[in-house]
Amino acid sequence: MRSTMMDIPLTITSIMRYGTSVYGDREVVTCTGAGTRRRSYAESGRRAARLANALRRLGVDADQRVGTFMWNNAEHLEAYLAVPSMGAVLHTLNIRLAPAEAGYVAAHAEDHTVIVDASLVPRFAGILPHAPTVRHVIVTGAPLAQTPGASELAGVQVHDYEDLLAAEPDSFGWPELDERSAAAMCYTSGTTGKSKGVVYSHRSTYLHSMGPCLGNAFALSEQDRVLPVVPMFHANAWGLAYASLLCGADLVLPDQHMQPDALVRLISGERVTVAGGVPTIWTGVLAQVRAAGGDLSSLRLVVCGGSAVPHALLAAYESELGARLVQAWGMTETSPLGSVANPPPGLSEDQAWPYRDSQGRLFCTVEGRLAGDGGTVLPNDGQAVGEVEVRGPWVTGSYYRDDDPGKFHDGWLRTGDVGTLDERGFIRLTDRAKDVVKSGGEWISSMALENILMSHPDVAEAAVIGVPDDRWGERPFAAVVLRPGAEVSADKLRAFLAEQVPPWQLPERWSFIAEVPKTSVGKFSKRRMREAYQRGDYEVVEAR
Ligand code: ADP
Repeated sequence: MRSTMMDIPLTITSIMRYGTSVYGDREVVTCTGAGTRRRSYAESGRRAARLANALRRLGVDADQRVGTFMWNNAEHLEAYLAVPSMGAVLHTLNIRLAPAEAGYVAAHAEDHTVIVDASLVPRFAGILPHAPTVRHVIVTGAPLAQTPGASELAGVQVHDYEDLLAAEPDSFGWPELDERSAAAMCYTSGTTGKSKGVVYSHRSTYLHSMGPCLGNAFALSEQDRVLPVVPMFHANAWGLAYASLLCGADLVLPDQHMQPDALVRLISGERVTVAGGVPTIWTGVLAQVRAAGGDLSSLRLVVCGGSAVPHALLAAYESELGARLVQAWGMTETSPLGSVANPPPGLSEDQAWPYRDSQGRLFCTVEGRLAGDGGTVLPNDGQAVGEVEVRGPWVTGSYYRDDDPGKFHDGWLRTGDVGTLDERGFIRLTDRAKDVVKSGGEWISSMALENILMSHPDVAEAAVIGVPDDRWGERPFAAVVLRPGAEVSADKLRAFLAEQVPPWQLPERWSFIAEVPKTSVGKFSKRRMREAYQRGDYEVVEAR
């Protein structure tokens, strides 16, 4: 029997229509450094229509790719609305990639037009020679005539964003779209290899946008003012932009002002209630408040993920800032929300911590399983350790142009993350498959060692990698960044670790460094650490 229900496509166009009308008076606030600028959702909708008209005039038709090379700001939101809704495909380019890598990504996606922030024009000029498909560059954020480096944008037609919009009407004949058609693309940040493209559909984006609004997730609503510090080019700012339109929350966007003091000012000035970013961001904000004070009392929830969230960070936000940090896990491939670490009800605070310290419970619609050696499926018993595999309506089933088919297994995405899964659907990761330390045939969790080290009062950051060892094959090497003014020896840190981990897992090789190298999206770059270790860049201290 067929259902009697209407088959109305789930599209970004409908998110836009709903958000910019029903919540037309809500606002998107953009930080300018000196202050803020504001635009209502209704006005954003009208400007999205102007942008769509302008893009059509430049020849953007059918499913051509329109790239963005932008900070989180009101104009980026306009591109988020206009490009998919006109039937084209939004490609958010990572502004921190090296020129050749960014060019590879733009060429692989065949970007036709790219909207570039004026402050990033010199950087984009370095990418253009590697991106031969780009025909038009639209500069936003400052008048073209006053944009340094604009004359170096060679071989393309260059336009001023505001001039283009001013010449167009503020309505557009939005087409009827197939919900399964491509809406947006995002490339993995390449932490573990070449960047690969994920193509989101309208349907997957619509469903994913409801995720943050669920009570069991972030319970976003029109009561909220949402600050995505996570870039709009990094896995869709975790869905926070579209979700805010869908539920009528205001958006507060940092633009390029993401230094801890600027974020503290923005949060307190705009009374932000929900914020999201990687642990590095929240570590910086915590240090800022400790050093110089700041009012974060408006925050009811800080979503943190992208890499493992240290227990010490979760605890410090609660006890020192009175803000609840919640860990979430996901990947570009999963739109990205995969799981969120709210503990089940009825637990004491002590009983709740193991859940809060985990990567969280799988979102509804996202299924997970564990794969062991040779792909055998392991039990979800919280004990068996294997590679996490997921599937679901907002999980990609392949990469663009079928790159790397080996990442998919019988209709499941192999996440490359290793850990356990329990009966209640909670994931606990021990490592990325490529970062696992294998010592004498046994696995040592680099994440567990890092987490304990970062709970030491003198340690600001700690990263652990596996390094070659004649006897054991591989042993853990710990690189530690101390807090300003702190002094502690490797022996002392080793003894601190020994209180919680068995002796055979304790690192013998240590180094005190100024900063852990980070990837383009602020994660510990273990690849760069391994290269540096191999070159002998680290001054290694032995502790046994
Ligand atoms: P890339 O794969 O290029 O780093 P992504 O941002 O898509 O780009 O990274 C996804 C990966 O980030 C996950 O597979 C996982 O290894 C890591 N990750 C994300 N959230 C968490 C978390 N809460 N704890 C541990 N690792 C995480």
